[in-house]
Amino acid sequence: MSKVYFASARAKKWDYKESLPGKLGRLIKKIDFKKYFKEDEEVAVKTHFGSEGAHRIIRPIFIRKIVDGIKAVKAKPFVTDTVRIMGLDYLEIANQNGINHHSCGAPVVLADGLNGKDNILVKVKKGRVLKEVAIATLIHDCTAMVVLSHCKGHINAGYAGAIKNLAMGGISSEHRIHGWKKGRGCIHTFGEGIITWTKNRCTYCNQCVNVCPLGIIDFKGKKWSYIMDECWRCGRCTRVCPENALRLPQNDEYFQKGLAEGAGAVLSTFKKKKVIYINFLLDIQPECDCMPVADVPLFQDQGVLISDDMVAIEQASVDILRKARFIPDSMAGDRKIKEGEDVLKKLHGKEYQLQIDEAERLGLGSKKYTLVAV
Ligand code: SF4
Ligand code: SF4
Repeated sequence: MSKVYFASARAKKWDYKESLPGKLGRLIKKIDFKKYFKEDEEVAVKTHFGSEGAHRIIRPIFIRKIVDGIKAVKAKPFVTDTVRIMGLDYLEIANQNGINHHSCGAPVVLADGLNGKDNILVKVKKGRVLKEVAIATLIHDCTAMVVLSHCKGHINAGYAGAIKNLAMGGISSEHRIHGWKKGRGCIHTFGEGIITWTKNRCTYCNQCVNVCPLGIIDFKGKKWSYIMDECWRCGRCTRVCPENALRLPQNDEYFQKGLAEGAGAVLSTFKKKKVIYINFLLDIQPECDCMPVADVPLFQDQGVLISDDMVAIEQASVDILRKARFIPDSMAGDRKIKEGEDVLKKLHGKEYQLQIDEAERLGLGSKKYTLVAV
C-alpha cells in the first residue's frame, strides 16, 4: 500500500495551521524532502504556467511553499514548464499569472528552451503506443523533481492530473529533426495526423484561430487552411470547434495509454524515489490550463495530496472527485449531470481510469493506497 497524505481545503478554525498554505507545510514535513533530495541537488518544480485567460492555475503561494521546503533541505529548486506557446511569450504569461523568481523564490525557466526544441530523444519502454519521444532537456538532465499538478477535467483525457502533467508537460511539442512525430502530438494523433475541415459545418466562429498556439490557421477566401508542416498536432483547434467541423485522427484508448507511456518515458530519466507528486484539487475547472479561458469550477475545492507514488496519488485524486458533489451553476449543471454520477466521465465521455490502470501496468506505481489525513 502506498501512502498518500491529504490536506482538506476546509478551514474550521481561525488559525494559520488550518489554512491550506499551513497544511501544505505539514504535508511537506510528512513526506520529508530530506529522504529524496541531496544537498546542492538541483530539483525541478514542474508546474503549468497557464495561459492568458486560464487563470485557475496552481497559485504562486503554494509554489513558494514547496520551493522553500526544498531549500530547507539545502537542495536547489527551479520552477519549470515546457513551451506551450513560443518561449518569451510563455514566460510573460507565467509572469502575468504571478509565477516569477520573486514570487516563487527560485528561477523560472523553460525546460525545453525558448522555442521548445531543446529536448532529448528517449525510447519508451514497454510502449504499445509510443516508441520514442523528445523529453525536455532540463527535465531529462535533472536528477530530482516535484510534480505539481492542477487536477481538473480535460476534453480529450476526461481527467487531467499528474500523469497528464508529466506526459504532455515533460515531452516537448516538437523535435528539431522529427517534428511533432516525437513530440506530445504523437499522443494526440497518429499516422500523418492531417486535420480535415467540413465546410458546411463551419460557422466561422474563429475559435479555432484563437486557440492555435502557433497562429497557423487561416480563413482566406472563406476556406479553412493551416500550415501542416508547422502544426504541433496539439489538437486544440479540433477540441474547441463547437460544430465538429475540424477532425484530427484520434483514438481514445490510444490517447489514454499514450499518456501513461509518455509519463513513464519521463520518469525513466529519474532514479527510483527521486520524484514527489503534489496534486492540487482546487479550482477544478472542466478544461486544461492551456485553453484561453478557465470556466467556473465543477466542484468545490477538495484539498491537496502528496505522495511518492504517481499511480496512488492519481487513484486517490479521482476517488475523491468521484465522491465530490458538483456545483450546480457549473458546466456539470448545464449538462444535466445527476447526483452520484461520475461527473468527469459524463462531461467529456472519456474512460480516464484507463490512463491510471495503464500506468500501473507499466510499473509506475500502485493503485492500492492508504489515505492519511494531515
Ligand atoms: S472553430 Fe469550427 S466552426 Fe469555428 S471557425 Fe473553426 S472550424 Fe469553423
Ligand atoms: S493542431 Fe490545430 S491548434 Fe494545434 S498547432 Fe495544429 S493547427 Fe494549431
